[in-house]
Amino acid sequence: MTDRITVFDTTLRDGEQAAGTRLGAKEKLEIARQLVKLNVDVIEAGFPQSSPEDFRAVQQIAAEIRGPVICGLTRTVVEDIDTCARALAGADRFRIHTGMGVSDIHIAGKFSKEKYGKTMEEKRARILEMCVRAVRHAKRYTPDVEFYAEDAARAEPAYLIQILEGVIDAGATVVNIPDTTGYAVPEQFGSLIQTIRDSVPNINRAVISVHCHNDLGLAVANTLAAVKAGARQVEGTINGIGERAGNAALEEIVMGLRTRKDFFQVETTIETREFYRTSRIVADLLNMSIPPNKAVVGENAFSHSSGIHVDGVLKMRETYEIMKPEEVGFHTSSVILTARTGRHGLKHRLEELGHPLSPTELETVYRRFLQVADKKQRVFDQDLIAIVRNEVRSVTARYAIEYVHAASGNGLNQLSVAAGGMYKEGAQNG
Ligand code: MN
Repeated sequence: MTDRITVFDTTLRDGEQAAGTRLGAKEKLEIARQLVKLNVDVIEAGFPQSSPEDFRAVQQIAAEIRGPVICGLTRTVVEDIDTCARALAGADRFRIHTGMGVSDIHIAGKFSKEKYGKTMEEKRARILEMCVRAVRHAKRYTPDVEFYAEDAARAEPAYLIQILEGVIDAGATVVNIPDTTGYAVPEQFGSLIQTIRDSVPNINRAVISVHCHNDLGLAVANTLAAVKAGARQVEGTINGIGERAGNAALEEIVMGLRTRKDFFQVETTIETREFYRTSRIVADLLNMSIPPNKAVVGENAFSHSSGIHVDGVLKMRETYEIMKPEEVGFHTSSVILTARTGRHGLKHRLEELGHPLSPTELETVYRRFLQVADKKQRVFDQDLIAIVRNEVRSVTARYAIEYVHAASGNGLNQLSVAAGGMYKEGAQNG
């Protein structure tokens, strides 16, 4: 029998922690709606205690989104857990995800104060107690409690085993083994999962989850190695966005498991044809670009150019393609958008690009589209996305440009220096 893998999406929590990104409640909801279409099992919607805005976003997602389990992150602090439960209360089914650092490096760094114990032994005992207490507290709100052992990949295995046994006894139904710093390598990470299965006495009462980071480019490889070793929940983000080098890319994990089902013998219930659209919505709302050679969703992921490859693919696609582009939602439509495209064609293209619009919104976009089409003849997808963003997706202004001056050239001569000086004087006089 093939085992089913639970897919846990943390685009809205860990993904949003990527440098320079911030999502408002409206954008988070839009992504969450698309994650429903993708059919993920769990949506980690945010960290409600972190800010009032994030609290509201989680609350709105819990109230509106149906299907996936809605999850919120907390520290092992009672107040965090209470706030999280309040934010999630409107959901059909919700999960509280609590935990703390368990590696010696994290313990020494974060819990250096004497109140946590004088020796490492005392600190470890104190931390175990805090973890157990947090899980028990979260259980008062929901039967579905996930515990994360932060920096598990660098923790002392014997202590990690002790922690996991404690939190499972306290009621944790999922134990998350994160490689918080992207330090692990596949073989070792897989054997850590095997050790956990062999050595935690009550492990059969919980699902093992993995949460990998990409600092060495190994997040997906480590995740897959963990699945091979028995992990049954995978955590990741769309396009692999997240802190530093990011998280494991969900589309790569899922397509890896699917394409190599012969090897992994597991399945997910992900609607893979939604990957392309989901990827574009996330990139668009976070104002990030997707590298053309990005696995699974990059623009060139299914393009062939060398003569031998093109010839091979035309004769038999399988010669150079292990996945079908339409399997992950690449549209094969070659419709070219011009002023004569019409509302219907425009609507269809916008939906393919992940922008279902209301009739009023469509009308606004259509008017602007005609103006652009008149000027440019052919309107590209990027133009359409820009039109949607400008016309119907309100972006709160964060700054305004008061003055801008641009100059260009391939050198500097006396005349232009003098002109610059005169200009400056002129500006002062004015
Ligand atoms: Mn993380």
